[in-house]
Amino acid sequence: MLLREVEYAKPGSVAEALELLAANDGARALAGGQTLINVMKARAASPDMLVDLNGLDDLTGIELAGDGTLTIGAMTTYTELMGSAEAKARPILGEVCATIADVQVRNRGTIGGNVCSNDPTNHLPPLMVSVGARMTIAGADGEREVSAEEFFLGVYLTAVGPGELLTRISIPAGKKDGFAAVTLGADGTCIANAAATVNGSVRVALGCVDAVPVIVTAESADGVADAVRAANLEPPSDVHASSEYRTHLAEVLATRAAQEASAR
Ligand SMILES: Cc1cc2nc3c(=O)[nH]c(=O)nc-3n(C[C@H](O)[C@H](O)[C@H](O)COP(=O)(O)OP(=O)(O)OC[C@H]3O[C@@H](n4cnc5c(N)ncnc54)[C@H](O)[C@@H]3O)c2cc1C
Repeated sequence: MLLREVEYAKPGSVAEALELLAANDGARALAGGQTLINVMKARAASPDMLVDLNGLDDLTGIELAGDGTLTIGAMTTYTELMGSAEAKARPILGEVCATIADVQVRNRGTIGGNVCSNDPTNHLPPLMVSVGARMTIAGADGEREVSAEEFFLGVYLTAVGPGELLTRISIPAGKKDGFAAVTLGADGTCIANAAATVNGSVRVALGCVDAVPVIVTAESADGVADAVRAANLEPPSDVHASSEYRTHLAEVLATRAAQEASAR
């Protein structure tokens, strides 16, 4: 389906982008367009103006600090993360990006767009929670930082408010991570996924089972399945999977992700 007519703006700075978003209720940020353009074609979203974030230097780049903290610009693509020497400080990031969709989507899609769309079937929301990411949000009053747990608020809903932008994501150093997913079809849509991090105990963030990632913890990978059962998940049923099957997958994938993290 063709897009309906929409105004297009190409700001020269983050400040200008924020002004455009604040001044136009119907304006939406455009990152890689791999979700937004598709939902516009399906008439599920109908913004009056697209504010193109491509080319804004302040939203790009991957920096590695002396303490191992990674700072990743919101407009960083999956392909850039996969190829970045700095991002090897947290190898799971590139590894998971390499499993998202296909080359075209990975070349255009951005880490910021993935988390801001907060589609519960996306790969990155649970991963951001398990690695302890912190998100920087800019608006008219300056910048604020929230944890990944505080960032994801509901289906397609995040802490980024009207007139605001996610500018960058900070992730501490670490190697003991794992990720497991069951995907459907050629584009790899998840029906369940799990991201785990071992830091003494095991922390797992489960995706596709609720509106936001569900966190469970256990002493070791052996205890993860019990911890998932204790969470009394009530995932949705849809054409791809029943609630019961997703609950079963959550236990299996959480355990797999935790075992992978423990083995590193
Ligand atoms: C065929 C196909 C298969 C896919 N399969 C998967 C998959 O298996 N797993 C997966 O995780 N994803 C998948 N995706 C989604 C893909 O990863 C998208 O790239 C991603 O969800 C959105 O990123 P984007 O940069 O394209 O954002 P856009 O589509 O440009 O934007 C998405 C939303 O985020 C907002 N936004 C973007 N950047 C910012 C910002 N910096 N600040 C505030 N708001 C912002 C936009 O306004 C919009 O509402 C798939 C997409 C396609 C087309």
